[in-house]
Amino acid sequence: MGYISQVSCDKCGYEEEFFLGSGMMYHLPDFVKTLFSNETAAEIEKFKANSTNVSVVAENVLALCETCGKLSVMHKAEFTAPSGETAEFKSVCECGQNFSELSGNYMQEGVLCPKCKAKLRIEETGFWD
Ligand SMILES: [Zn+2]
Ligand SMILES: [Zn+2]
Repeated sequence: MGYISQVSCDKCGYEEEFFLGSGMMYHLPDFVKTLFSNETAAEIEKFKANSTNVSVVAENVLALCETCGKLSVMHKAEFTAPSGETAEFKSVCECGQNFSELSGNYMQEGVLCPKCKAKLRIEETGFWD
């Protein structure tokens, strides 16, 4: 089960909800594939084609795009083949650049507002499957 993080800025009113953690379907390779761009999905398909019974561990993490300043959910997935071979995939920002994952203690250390750079308020508001 995943959790919902709501971030809000008291200064400029920026507000957004992020679905973080892992959903119910996040251990299913064919579902996880759909979280990614067509290009990445094709790479995943290639990895899966090389062996049967590929397993996957996937999660959503909070990430920052340093190019456009957008705060976003990054999908991360690690596929493992029975041979032990692994492949890791991460989604990229709408602008095409790689995200920087925010460290796990951002809840304590805080995240800056992408609009006005004030410290954001972060609250867990619920769960999702
Ligand atoms: Zn702000
Ligand atoms: Zn970006």
